[in-house]
Amino acid sequence: MIPNPPPRHPQLGFLYIHPYRIQGVSIAGEETFVQVPELGVCFDIGRAPRAALTSDFVALSHGHMDHSAGLAYYFSQRSFQGIGTGSVICHPHLEKPIRGVMTAWTELEAQRTPYNVIPLEPDQEHQIKNNIVLRAFATKHTVPSLGYVAVEKRSKLKSEFVGLEQPKLVELKKQGVEITQVNDIPLVCFTGDTMWGEHFDRPDVLGAKILITECTFLEPDHRDRAGIGKHLHLDHIAQLMEKSQAEAVILTHLSRRTHITEARRVINEAIPAKHHDRLFILMDNKTNRQRYESQLAEAEAEATVTQGK
Ligand SMILES: [Zn+2]
Ligand SMILES: [Zn+2]
Repeated sequence: MIPNPPPRHPQLGFLYIHPYRIQGVSIAGEETFVQVPELGVCFDIGRAPRAALTSDFVALSHGHMDHSAGLAYYFSQRSFQGIGTGSVICHPHLEKPIRGVMTAWTELEAQRTPYNVIPLEPDQEHQIKNNIVLRAFATKHTVPSLGYVAVEKRSKLKSEFVGLEQPKLVELKKQGVEITQVNDIPLVCFTGDTMWGEHFDRPDVLGAKILITECTFLEPDHRDRAGIGKHLHLDHIAQLMEKSQAEAVILTHLSRRTHITEARRVINEAIPAKHHDRLFILMDNKTNRQRYESQLAEAEAEATVTQGK
């Protein structure tokens, strides 16, 4: 008898919500990292899978090891592969311990790994792309924690100047008149580990195009556990679906206790059918693959029609 090969490394969960790829691994207590390559950000770093290295920023929600273990390795591999110094955005409480971990590695390796720490207070912002900032917001977990919203700062002509001819606008600008205003467009929100609270009433959280949130507990008799561990229960997701304007709500941090097929069944039962087409589970690889394949087929069909014209 020949023994079985070892288990394959868990496949990354993957969703394409135009124009963003949402990819990563998220299993409660084991590992969470959710990457949006188009924004150059990894929300949490898990065990720093290879894909994570291409993102210039890690936005850390909190210090629990399943979310932060790979941080030193991320910095080290970024440097080793010549990609450039990686940066971590984090709660101000985490700056000192992160520097402590990196100092310990300097001793272990007898060499220094370059890294940046960017502490953010709730509601502070840090620019991550042209016109896009990452805004931190306060969440409630068992340790200091933050959620994040990527916000586009979109310049728009003020309504009183709409319709004016170009030379007139140039003239006004020359006179020093402020003809544009900057609007905040919330793009992608990541809540990290958190219990239910007033942060789920924030306009930038509810207005985000994509909302990535945790859902650690599904079973009705686990409502208390959600409260104690300061996590969300499926009941909260049901409330959230009523309030959120997101085109896609993506659930992460599900427990390994429940098989994904069973989780999908329980979730679909608890959430009204009108919300099902915008509710996703990051690690439901089978459903997500089918969806991606139909997206591919649709794009191909469109290309054929365009070529035919
Ligand atoms: Zn966690
Ligand atoms: Zn946690």
